[in-house]
Amino acid sequence: MKALTPHFEKDKTLKRLGLKDINEGTSTGLHNFSGKDVLESYSPVDGKLIGKVTITDKADYEKIMAAAARAFKIWRTVPAPRRGDIIRQFGDKLREKKEALGTLVSYEMGKSLQEGLGEVQEMIDICDFAVGLSRQLHGLTMHSERPGHRMYEQYHPLGVVGIISAFNFPIAVWAWNTTLAWVCGDVCIWKPSEKTPLCGVACQNIISEVFTENNLPEGISSLINGDYKVGEFMTKDNRIPLISATGSTRMGKIVAQEVAARLGKSLLELGGNNAIIVTPDADIKMTVIGAVFGAVGTAGQRCTSTRRLIIHEDIYEKVKTAITDAYKQLRIGNPLDETNHVGPLIDKDAVEMYQNALKQVVEEGGNLVVEGGVLSGADFKSGCYVKPAIVEANPDFKIVQQETFAPILYLLEYSGSVENAIDIQNNVAQGLSSAIMTNNLREAELFLSVQGSDCGIANVNIGTSGAEIGGAFGGEKETGGGRESGSDAWKVYMRRQTNTINYTTEVPLAQGIKFDL
Ligand code: NAD
Repeated sequence: MKALTPHFEKDKTLKRLGLKDINEGTSTGLHNFSGKDVLESYSPVDGKLIGKVTITDKADYEKIMAAAARAFKIWRTVPAPRRGDIIRQFGDKLREKKEALGTLVSYEMGKSLQEGLGEVQEMIDICDFAVGLSRQLHGLTMHSERPGHRMYEQYHPLGVVGIISAFNFPIAVWAWNTTLAWVCGDVCIWKPSEKTPLCGVACQNIISEVFTENNLPEGISSLINGDYKVGEFMTKDNRIPLISATGSTRMGKIVAQEVAARLGKSLLELGGNNAIIVTPDADIKMTVIGAVFGAVGTAGQRCTSTRRLIIHEDIYEKVKTAITDAYKQLRIGNPLDETNHVGPLIDKDAVEMYQNALKQVVEEGGNLVVEGGVLSGADFKSGCYVKPAIVEANPDFKIVQQETFAPILYLLEYSGSVENAIDIQNNVAQGLSSAIMTNNLREAELFLSVQGSDCGIANVNIGTSGAEIGGAFGGEKETGGGRESGSDAWKVYMRRQTNTINYTTEVPLAQGIKFDL
């Protein structure tokens, strides 16, 4: 019997999230917009129009900036643990609305309902983390070289933080940034992906309720909508000291230059080209689960999706057969039906990129082990559903060196020692996530050592995708070098100040310098 699953009921789900078809001001928390243009959101699940939101124009943006600047003056004086309590209330609201919000994520973005709910859970988790953090924004004290002096450092909020996010994690990435920035005392302006604007409006509605219930001013959280041109309002704006941008490396290179040109700070979370090394000592069953979920989860549209499997020649055929067999079990279809494993790609442009990549890898000499293809028919009428593909390839193929945001898994063979596999793994421009499957302690430790993976994330016996919020998340090289979420990632949202206090009646100078008057 088919499992009973929640599904997207337009009126009911949108109403529960406080959404209307054309938003009339809810997108920013402000009213009296001048923006006339609208952004339409179509679901990749069934191709239907879900809703429309107002595109932010420059005049609206200026109003939002003014409100943010006013709100910062108030918010920065609220004690950090009290700010944490506001975030706790936000987490509670998310718990209440988890099903509605997770369903909207699934319907607007196309990921499976389980992953949509998982995204809301990640937001709840980061709220919990931020609540604890609000009592731990520690600085250091150090001993002064001068008698009767005290020296310490403290952290202050930066001001207005700009957040630009990608379509594939339409809500969690915002929460990773904004909850930490808020407990740090910053206010945030968010531009979500133009492909998932309703998710943005839903989140803004939820947090607006919390701020209103606590008599806090508008402007602590603001939303702007539109494409890169609206993003540029923020990247070029020297009133915004930090831009946190998640998306393609192409976007990151532009944003980094815009922000650096005005000596602002940027936190970049960009593309990955993630690999799993499979050594002769690997547990094959674990490898198959990790690799298949990594390659086809979110239809290969995670920054941490597994794109390359680097397999030792001794077990190459065995692993290839096991993974190919697993692909035969995959069910592709409506992501709101939890019996399906793979949902649609985000839009038809993504389908075209997927097709072009498959064409190119064959032209470069690749061998299709599991042929892909675009699905058609009544169940796939959005035109966005594709079959996950597996291709035997060479690590140096141009297409293998790139991130194709689709379910294409490249099988790459290595021989000799694990060092050779590590060389292949590191020999790409990106540096986000990596993994090794092995029961051999020496191989595992080498992979994690200074001679090992050059990525921001390196795992042993789990795949490349999926990360816990407790650790700092991010990657090196063309992934951008930023770190978000757990550990001490909060420091990027604050400015550090070193303070020295003289409690004597003398003014001794540092380094023993004499300056007698
Ligand atoms: P994208 O680069 O097309 O867009 C991302 C965001 O940047 C959107 O909001 C877009 O409007 C904005 N943008 C684009 N150009 C801009 C500019 N010049 N100025 C200001 N804003 C601009 O990416 P996408 O297709 O939405 O997402 C997929 C990409 O995101 C993949 O490369 C994926 O790996 C990456 N990603 C990385 C992480 C990570 O944490 N490293 C997480 C999620 C997604």
